[in-house]
Amino acid sequence: MANRCYAPNGMSTHPPPFDASGMRAVFLRELAAAVAGALSARALLERAPGDPEPVRSLRDFFHGIAGSAGAAGLPLLGRLAGACETAAAALLEGTLRGPPAAAMFDQGLAGVAFVLQTWSPPAGTESADPAPEPDRPPARILVVDDDRLSARLTDAVLRAAGFDSAFCCEPEKALEVIQRESPDLILLDVVMPEVNGFDLCRDIRKSPGLQLTPIIFLTGKGAVEQRVHGLELGANDYVAKPFEPQELVARVRTHLSRLAEARERAIRDGLTGCYNNQYFKQRLDQEIARAVQSGDDLTLAMLDVDHFKRVNDEHGHLAGDAVLAKIASILAASVRSSDVLARYGGEEFALLLVGAATARAAAVTDRVRECIAAHPFELPAAADKAQTARCTVSIGIAALSASDTADAFLLRADRALYGAKEAGRNRVVIAA
Ligand code: GH3
Ligand code: MG
Ligand code: MG
Repeated sequence: MANRCYAPNGMSTHPPPFDASGMRAVFLRELAAAVAGALSARALLERAPGDPEPVRSLRDFFHGIAGSAGAAGLPLLGRLAGACETAAAALLEGTLRGPPAAAMFDQGLAGVAFVLQTWSPPAGTESADPAPEPDRPPARILVVDDDRLSARLTDAVLRAAGFDSAFCCEPEKALEVIQRESPDLILLDVVMPEVNGFDLCRDIRKSPGLQLTPIIFLTGKGAVEQRVHGLELGANDYVAKPFEPQELVARVRTHLSRLAEARERAIRDGLTGCYNNQYFKQRLDQEIARAVQSGDDLTLAMLDVDHFKRVNDEHGHLAGDAVLAKIASILAASVRSSDVLARYGGEEFALLLVGAATARAAAVTDRVRECIAAHPFELPAAADKAQTARCTVSIGIAALSASDTADAFLLRADRALYGAKEAGRNRVVIAA
């Protein structure tokens, strides 16, 4: 990503709280870096009072402070900068004359100098303690804000909370970065030169694969109409600057966990909780590629319930559903977490045994077969009579061969399954 600054620390289970001094340190470091540019803009304005360029620079400088100082625990500086930003805008519009505007800028710059003298930034506060290795990769967040000060501050808050944050200060490049990197969540400034945050939001939502990505507007413009407009365009939330770090992090977490739930629902079968066919096909391709590269074993088992139509006919469709769910749970309990179990369709399941050669796959699947055959399936509609049903399954297994495509691999396992049915059902057949 542009201006990539990935967190050294991952999303630990107990991320360290971001303290106010850490936030202020980031703010002061960025302020110290930006102040030279503002001072030279002020000097240029003195030499060429009619030139709009230095006024724009000053407006942007104060805009950044107005949006960030509050979050760094310096609300007075934020208000002073806000007044300077207003003065710069009025000067550009011609509704304020040069001398009072210049006096305002001088006050603002004096305020900045005072703050920098009072709290000189301690060195190296940002990446203090390396956190323990995360057990899963932290969520990737992109902050899009033309104002570097504000972007760095938001980024620092997110990294301190354990996220893998990066920021982009060039809004005209943001869409390209977002499409390329596909972050898990986007924080978007509304008021930016060239590209308006609302337009960017609209473009993100039109991009394939980015419809679900949470977007939170982060901006000084807190007016109700702005909030409503942002939400109508497909943003998920709206946080006004200066923000409370804890609130921002809490909102980010909420949206990420909703996204995780939605993603999980999209790849699971509702009745059995197994992966669905579509996701299975994706994983099959990935696991084949991985096995081909590593030379590790990969075995595919296709399992079909025997005479399942009879279960429906004799006990009803609801009972059939309960039997399918129970078979899925027996299967799930018998496989490793690295294996991939899916409901392939109707009463058929697919199981990828990762790293398993034929002998182990045959042993595992035969144990499952025996377990299912011995299980008294309780029938929900007839629970008062404690009625149960018996069921068996047929299983075909195939080991990945060097020349197998995904389709060929599936076909060989399917033929073995057909062989198991032909041979009398309730058995495991290994593909030749
Ligand atoms: P075979 O041993 O040859 O596989 O016989 P079978 O009866 O299992 O096979 P068949 O393909 O004739 O019938 C499958 C049945 O599975 C028919 C279909 O209604 C039922 N079925 C598929 N999906 C579901 C489901 O989600 N719930 C229920 N209750 N039944 C389902
Ligand atoms: Mg069947
Ligand atoms: Mg079938």
